[in-house]
Order: sequence, then C-alpha cells, then structure tokens
Amino acid sequence: METAFTDKDTYQDFFDPEEYLNTYYTPKSGILVLDGFLDFALKKLHEYFTTRGVKGKTLIDIGHGPTIYQDLSACEAFDEIIGADYTDRNREYYERSLRNEPGTFDWTNVIQKVCDMEGKGTSVEEKRQKLKNTVKKTLKCDVLKSNPLEPLVMPKADCLLTVGCLGFACSDLDTYRNVLKNLSSLLKVGGHVIIGELLNCSPYLSGDKMFFSLVLTEEFLRSAITETGFEIVDLEVSDRKYDMNQFCKYDSTLLVLARKVRDV
Ligand code: SAH
Repeated sequence: METAFTDKDTYQDFFDPEEYLNTYYTPKSGILVLDGFLDFALKKLHEYFTTRGVKGKTLIDIGHGPTIYQDLSACEAFDEIIGADYTDRNREYYERSLRNEPGTFDWTNVIQKVCDMEGKGTSVEEKRQKLKNTVKKTLKCDVLKSNPLEPLVMPKADCLLTVGCLGFACSDLDTYRNVLKNLSSLLKVGGHVIIGELLNCSPYLSGDKMFFSLVLTEEFLRSAITETGFEIVDLEVSDRKYDMNQFCKYDSTLLVLARKVRDV
C-alpha cells in the first residue's frame, strides 16, 4: 500500500520520540539493533573519526531525532557538535538525553560498546560527560531550505553528519539531490559529510503512524553525492541480518564518507 509523503509538519505533529526509540533501538529487541544496523553504524562512525582522521572544530548533526548514539565517536574528534532537527519534541528529547535525565532512553550498553571500541579505558560516565560538554546546542533546521538553518547564518562547519534523515525528509530523488546542495552550503570546501541511510526502504511504522521513506539505492547515492560537489572517500553497504517486515522493509544499510571538493 502506498503511504503518502509524510512532510516535516507530520513529523512535528505525530513523531513520538519514545515510541520511535522503543521500536527501533531497545536493546536486544529494537529493529535496528536486531538487524545489525546499530552495530554497523557504530563501527563505521568509529572508523571515520579515528583511522580515517575526520576531525575539526565544528560538526553539525542533522536530523538527529531522539538518538545520541551517532555522536558518541564524533565527540572525541570535534571541539563542538551542533545538533539540528525539524521537530521541537526531538530537539527537546535529544537535549534531555544528553543530560541523561531520568526517564529518557537508556543508552548505557551502546556507550559501553563505543568506549570498548576506542580502547582507552573511558568509563560510560566519562563518555556521557564528554558528549554533553561537546554538544553545545541544537537548532531548528529544515533540510529542504536552501539555508537549512535559516534565519541563522552559521560559519561553515568542518563536518556534517546525517543518519536516517534525508531519505525520510525528501519526497523524490530530485529533492534529495537538492537537499545535498542545501547541506553543502553549511560545509567548508575540504570538509566532510557522513550520511547513513536504509536502502530500498518502504514506509516505516512509529507509534501507530506510517512514515514515508524514499526508495534509495547505492547507485543513486553514489551519483547524487558526486554530482553535488563531493568526492566519495568510503562507502560501505551492510546486508540486513534479520527481517521483520511488518514495521519497516529495507534490504541493507549504507554509510558513506565524502569530502566536499567544490561549492555548488
Ligand atoms: N537520526 C535518527 C533518525 C531520526 S528519524 C536515527 O539515526 O535513528 C528522522 C528525523 O528526520 C526526525 O527526527 C525528523 O524530525 C527529521 N526530519 C524530517 N524532515 C526534516 C526536515 N525537512 N528537516 C530536518 N529534519 C527533518
């Protein structure tokens, strides 16, 4: 069955942070945990911010939603992280999670995994503090706007990170290409973009509402990224390990690291 495009205002009105986290990230039973996506993303992000040497002053995490896992490696490589998401509830939930407020999602086992990968003996508590101190704020953002942070005009960042957002925010492939250009305007030439996506994904369930997903392929992403002024440094696809079709169909996930080579 076709699910109509769920635009940003549907996210604003209906996207429930807790329902999303419970469905997708609960340890041992969350869909993105069971199918291997979370471990794959943690491994690739660790690689990018360590051996691949992605580092700098400012990283912007675009469409962070209610999750913080994607910033756990980045906070060791950047002086500051700035969050950005369209919905008020997701920005509030993200901030409350950074403060580890009672009642927010428990990321302890994920934080422990990242500390283990880093192998520096950092404790979970030290990592929480590091993340909290590095994320300075989160801003309202609309990736569909030519300046996604409008009305703010920010100094250009050294890195943009966006996991599981653009394929949900764009109604068609042309829009996706345009959004890459919009994001590029926030980034220095020579800076990096890291994109995580679910491939061949159908609409997904969060709470009792279906959210639209654009069908993305590796070939499309390769061409869209290179056509919009980036050079791909690394791209890896991971096949889905476990199938739970009723919530969210997709066959694999992708993480890509690209460097901005020109303004577009
Ligand atoms: N990063 C999260 C994904 C969150 S779900 C994860 O890895 O699980 C998708 C997110 O995209 C939501 O937080 C939603 O608010 C955001 N989003 C949707 N449309 C957007 C738009 N036009 N601009 C910015 N963010 C948008």
